[in-house]
Amino acid sequence: MISLAGKNLEELEKIIVDLGEQKFRAKQLYAWLYKKSAASFDEMTNLSKDFRETLKQNTIISPITIKKKQVSKDGTIKYLLELEDGHTVETVLMRFDNRPNLSACVSTQVGCAVKCLFCATGQRGFIRNLKAYEIVEQILTIQRDTKLEVTNVVYMGQGEPLYNFDEVMKSVNIINTELEIGNRRITLSTSGVIPAINKLAKENRQLTLAFSMHAPNIELRQKLVPTEKKYPLPDIIKALRNLTEKTGRRVTIEYVMIDGMNDTIELAKEMNNVLKGLNCNINLIPYNSASEHDLQPPSMHTINKFKFILEQSGRKVTVRLKRGDDIKAACGQLSGN
Ligand code: SAH
Ligand code: SF4
Repeated sequence: MISLAGKNLEELEKIIVDLGEQKFRAKQLYAWLYKKSAASFDEMTNLSKDFRETLKQNTIISPITIKKKQVSKDGTIKYLLELEDGHTVETVLMRFDNRPNLSACVSTQVGCAVKCLFCATGQRGFIRNLKAYEIVEQILTIQRDTKLEVTNVVYMGQGEPLYNFDEVMKSVNIINTELEIGNRRITLSTSGVIPAINKLAKENRQLTLAFSMHAPNIELRQKLVPTEKKYPLPDIIKALRNLTEKTGRRVTIEYVMIDGMNDTIELAKEMNNVLKGLNCNINLIPYNSASEHDLQPPSMHTINKFKFILEQSGRKVTVRLKRGDDIKAACGQLSGN
């Protein structure tokens, strides 16, 4: 069986000519795959019955299958997807009541090598990078299954996107051109891989970069994000500053809040100092139960005090809504099991 997943127009042309069809049909097939997210060949009504039969017998739309689907009380949907080699990853679709946006949260690796203290993905260790088509297929799978159109993509599922830079950027290009989702509606989230941030700065794209900071100083950050030893915070901030100057885009600072760990007024003040001069918004993420360690989110009162201090720097500070907690689809809860 030939997999049609991830094929561009030229590759589709070759496939269908080899199957004895006329080349121009590839355009129609292509539109069914990418623009209409067809889930079966039977939906492709402008293709002749014979051609559809040939396609059915020789090709498959996607080699990736839905192993499990869970729908949260809040409408969030989590999919456990099985890849060609049997490994599994998770993808989440988030909807927000009063917004028309539909955000897909995609995974970029099976497991993750960074091993942050608070994250379920890291506890699994690193298994392998995803290919670009495996990232794009996550979005197409959602669209095929729900018949809804994804409007935003966040690279915040399993894995460190910037450790899989080339395939991630390839997937961004496919999402731009084939799915017509522009860079401004795409966010990459990173634990701070400096060489890749520098590469991104050179590419000068209108993507949003989110940096998972979680602590304003090296000592504390080392306890939370082990790669801090390799990529120290001051150097990451420097790289981010360079990026914002090149692209003119504001970065997002993500900060997982953990009770008694990184939630004091002093740390909030230190954040303001460290971020001085950086064009950024801040997103506070109350810890979601995920790790084997006994961690808790702070009280709402503590979070709001922390937020209040940060706001004194004049920045926009938001507290991330918890999505899909009841089905373990919230940030950091994706383990692929
Ligand atoms: N590896 C990338 C992207 C995936 S994680 C990164 O770390 O940025 C996406 C976001 O979820 C990151 O900000 C991460 O720190 C956060 N996160 C991980 N575990 C979490 C948990 N248990 N509770 C809340 N947020 C968590
Ligand atoms: Fe990896 Fe991100 Fe989880 Fe850290 S938070 S272990 S970088 S997926």
